[in-house]
Formats: sequence, structure tokens, C-alpha cells
Amino acid sequence: MRRTLQIYFLLMASAMLLFCRPAAAGENIPTIINSEDAANKVFEKAKNTLSSRLNMHFQLPMEIKLVSGKELDAMVKDSPYRGNVTGLHTFKNGRHVIYMMTNVGRDDFYGTMCHEMTHSWQLENCPPDQSLVLSEGLAVWVEMKVLYWDGAYYMVNQINQNFGDPIYGVGYRYMQKIEDKYGEKNVLQVVKNMRDIPPGN
Ligand SMILES: [Zn+2]
Repeated sequence: MRRTLQIYFLLMASAMLLFCRPAAAGENIPTIINSEDAANKVFEKAKNTLSSRLNMHFQLPMEIKLVSGKELDAMVKDSPYRGNVTGLHTFKNGRHVIYMMTNVGRDDFYGTMCHEMTHSWQLENCPPDQSLVLSEGLAVWVEMKVLYWDGAYYMVNQINQNFGDPIYGVGYRYMQKIEDKYGEKNVLQVVKNMRDIPPGN
């Protein structure tokens, strides 16, 4: 009886831990992001993570705008990635405006937002003529980092499957080399002054 009771309490305790886990994170972010309120919650979380884990800070104002997939596609109509874009960083009149596709799953939205915010940081900190492979490589690296830290391994795998890409894939693999050499905390500082990835990467 006593033994059974102990097991019962143990089971109850682990069940409570399981139930408490999302609440303990204090996020309260819905599964699908389709409102300004939900988007802003993800934005706050992204700012906190990028600042605390990567020391990534922003000087200029930043605004998040939710748009439909159709609207986003129209904005990138000349891009070869049209149809696969879920976020877009723009800069107008001294303000960052990040367009984010609505009705996107929480993990996808969070990773994409951190990716686009990396482009904001690059605009404020990196040489304006930095190559696309370098800037997208860093943005993907940050995206993967935040997803790992969040335990969003499904998303990580999804992104990993597209890494044959000559810009995103090549750039990301180069960032992994930088991380191995200088450490996670120094990647931004190392990339900050670079213009391109060295030949042979
Ligand atoms: Zn990008």
C-alpha cells in the first residue's frame, strides 16, 4: 500500500512537471501565429533571446507587420525563393520593418523572425557591401541556434534538408566553421567586419 502510494505520488509529481513545463516558460504563445498580439509576443521573446544569448542589440526602431503569403510573394516576386519566403526585412526612413507571414506555426515564425532580425542587426553593424552568402549564412545560423535552444528539433531538421542551397546552405556551413574556431559567443563579432566568405568554402 505504501509502496503503491509512493509510486502514485511519483507519477503525479512527474505529470505535474510535464504540465508545468510550458507554463514555467511564461510564454503563452499560441501554436499558430495569426494576430498582432501573438506576433508581438514572439518578437519580445526573440529580442530577449538574441540579447541574452548572442549579445545582439538594436539601436533603430523595429516594427513587425503581419502579411498574407500572397502579399509576401508579391513583395519578393523577382526572387528565386518566391513561394518559400515566410519573412522579409526592409529598412525605410530609419526604421526596420519586418514583414512576417501570418498563419505560420510558432516555431517556424520564431525562427524566421530571429533570421530577419539578424538582417536588422547586420544593417546596423556590418559593411553595406557584405556578400549575400555571408549575410544569409549568419541569419540561418542564428535561426538554427534559437530553434535548438527552444528544443524545436523538427524545425531544425526541416531546415537542414534544404542545405544544398548555394547561398543559405554554403553560408550556414561556413558559419559552423567560424563557430567551431571562435566559439558561439564570438560568431557575430567575427562576421561583423567580414565582406565575404573566403574562397574554397
Ligand atoms: Zn535572410
